Amino acid sequence: MSEELRIATVGDIKIGKGYPISVQTMYDSPVPHDKNKLDELLERMNSLNAMGCDIMRFSYPTDDDREAFTYLNERSTMPLVADIHFDYKMALAAIECGFKAIRINPGNIKHRWKVDEVVRSAKEHGCAIRIGLNSGSMPDGSGRKAVIMVDNALKYIQWFEELGFYNTVVSLKSTNLEETTEANELFASKSNYPLHIGVTEAGSVVSSVARSTWTLGNLITKGIGDTMRISITGSIEDEVFAGVEILRTLGLRNTGVRIVSCPRCGRNSFDSIGFLKEVEPDLLKLKKDISVAIMGCQVNGPGEAKGADYAVTGLGTKIFLYKKGVLAQEVTRKNARKALLEVIENGD
Ligand code: SF4
Repeated sequence: MSEELRIATVGDIKIGKGYPISVQTMYDSPVPHDKNKLDELLERMNSLNAMGCDIMRFSYPTDDDREAFTYLNERSTMPLVADIHFDYKMALAAIECGFKAIRINPGNIKHRWKVDEVVRSAKEHGCAIRIGLNSGSMPDGSGRKAVIMVDNALKYIQWFEELGFYNTVVSLKSTNLEETTEANELFASKSNYPLHIGVTEAGSVVSSVARSTWTLGNLITKGIGDTMRISITGSIEDEVFAGVEILRTLGLRNTGVRIVSCPRCGRNSFDSIGFLKEVEPDLLKLKKDISVAIMGCQVNGPGEAKGADYAVTGLGTKIFLYKKGVLAQEVTRKNARKALLEVIENGD
């Protein structure tokens, strides 16, 4: 293995050892072409960015999307990645319309000269390339898939290096957790290039978070993994939330609001579940290093929320706001969300 540590640059984000592990998500719909809809999408992207998303990926299936993607690339607060399948011309088009990285599987592009053309253009435009390999697209019956994925990744890295291109990230994903772990550990033992880690097609929120926390947590504690996506059959906001929470649980991200909420029991007299749902999206966007507790009753709530910076609990129609364990305000259910956000915003 070459001694040189490889760092990839995706816009203003560095990926590799010594840099924070970045969180990614992937847009789940075709990109709109209407300007108003694009502006709405940019607003949603800003919110995701505020929640802790560092990089966002889009499918680039057709060059009809070129204008829309140029518009987004010019205005996005985070770097965007184009996901390319099969057609090298789409990769060239994506690079030209300002994507900061593209994700390709050179094996799908098939001809080496086409891959070379993409690499040359990426180099010219300062665009990174993720070599994205999934075990599902590896040939059957020719040995262990983890080993085949790693061998292929190393081969493609070599192709890139022959053209003087080093701005590369590698991902080796599988729905099988052992295979994902084996492939990433093997690659990390053989290469200094950064790894994008994730479990692919991991299921709905609960299943994906359990599978991803176990697999990625184990890899990260061994020092493997430089950027991550938690793949969820659900909202992209949940993907970002899950990614950020995993990093916070591992002690690798300290900024942002930590929400403490009780599971509710027979003592509850306040709909903490409904209130959490209502206020959570706003809390997750705040750039403050604080904890907020949302508790279901006035009996145990205040005591259980003592360690939190801010707490909300209720008794019937009355809602109580606490700051550092001390009652700060009594509010109505209707204005509770606004009051909580104001108290936090003002640092009252
Ligand atoms: S805070 Fe109250 S409602 Fe929530 S779990 Fe504790 S006792 Fe039950």
